[in-house]
Amino acid sequence: MQRERLTLSHGLQGQLDEALSRLASDLERRDPLPLVADRRKCVLCGWRGLCDREAAQQGHLSEVSGIGGKRRELLLEQGIASLPQLAATDPERLAEALAVHGDQHRDIAAELVAQARVQASGRPERLGPAAGDGPLPELATAPGLLLYDIESDPDARDDFLHGFVMLPGLPSGHPDGPWPRRPDAGWRYQPLLAMQEHGQARLWSRLSRLLGRYPAWPLLHYGETEAIALLRLARRQGATESELQQLKARLVDVHARLRAHWRLPVNSYGLKAVAGWLGFRWSQPGVDGARCLLWWRQWRRDGGVSRLRRIFTYNRDDNLATWAVARWLLDQEP
Ligand code: SF4
Repeated sequence: MQRERLTLSHGLQGQLDEALSRLASDLERRDPLPLVADRRKCVLCGWRGLCDREAAQQGHLSEVSGIGGKRRELLLEQGIASLPQLAATDPERLAEALAVHGDQHRDIAAELVAQARVQASGRPERLGPAAGDGPLPELATAPGLLLYDIESDPDARDDFLHGFVMLPGLPSGHPDGPWPRRPDAGWRYQPLLAMQEHGQARLWSRLSRLLGRYPAWPLLHYGETEAIALLRLARRQGATESELQQLKARLVDVHARLRAHWRLPVNSYGLKAVAGWLGFRWSQPGVDGARCLLWWRQWRRDGGVSRLRRIFTYNRDDNLATWAVARWLLDQEP
């Protein structure tokens, strides 16, 4: 057991009193409370697994990617109370109805209906014709690729781990094509711990040495965090404009490419939801970024090799999940 001492300010004391009296009356109820309107709040709740299943079963509007508390209220006002109802709605009629609440709601109406339809059907939908080099043209001639994922402590503004998976391309004539179907052979994981006390100059020198060993390998990441952090670090460490442009050209945001080319039957386009839908499984079930951060803080305080090992495993798996998404994108191309 750990004990933490909190100072209850006047405001907090009031919130606590109110929460306790609400809890007392909720415990009297014979039926369960409804799911919260904005289910992003569920991230830290221990009931989440159960509520996710309930939401999916009910076709709760929060299941539709892009719908938070506010949009759900607007849809309820229009008499749309579930995912199947939204999927059956005429997008133009909905756009007109939402226009009174502002252009942003009118403009999003068609997208919400389209997303609900894809989720209701369970089938992914390509956005636009399959043409050109596909969503990942950088991979056409690359000899290999680097998968890249950062673990951060947002409160301390500390990107404490930069993790890479090196994935060489396959020899020509390989039955899988130029890239492995599953990256379980030939890849190597390289974690770079970034201790704040060692300073950013040392981190940048290690990162640029590593990147310099694979000059023509694109750097695949999921979401914008990695690109922002790496470019910011490079700029602060005095990289020239041409070095920054080269680095920018190597960075490939798999999430952005996915959103630009596909609509998926998932309730979120986060890595966990998308890779999970593709059948990817993390080797440490139930672990998320918050747990990883907890291990990091515990390791900083008390040490323990096993904590560090679990952080690396989590980070490596996130990289492999990114590859699962990229590989799926490649597989969809003719
Ligand atoms: S997971 Fe369930 S119980 Fe927890 S906040 Fe969300 S809806 Fe409420």
